[in-house]
Amino acid sequence: MNELIRVWKEVDIKDIEGHLLIVGLTSADCSNCRELGINYSTAASCSKCGTDFKYIASRSKEIRKIKEKRPDLIFIDLEDYKKVVGFIKAKGFF
Ligand SMILES: [Zn+2]
Repeated sequence: MNELIRVWKEVDIKDIEGHLLIVGLTSADCSNCRELGINYSTAASCSKCGTDFKYIASRSKEIRKIKEKRPDLIFIDLEDYKKVVGFIKAKGFF
């Protein structure tokens, strides 16, 4: 019986920021250049800045559906990511 749980892992937050596809309600955006309207089902890279996507996060709860469409990408939790980025920005490291 396979269920989804979050796994804690040390990550390179700069690497995530440069290669993250953020899925919204209907399409996705690129965290590197903020390009909007990306088709998250098929996009391997951003058509605007050219970055290749390695990570994916979602604003919705449809994690299983998105994971099934993109098994090639590492699924990260958007709230976890935003929390860490906010913390780093507050400390002035970015
Ligand atoms: Zn981009």
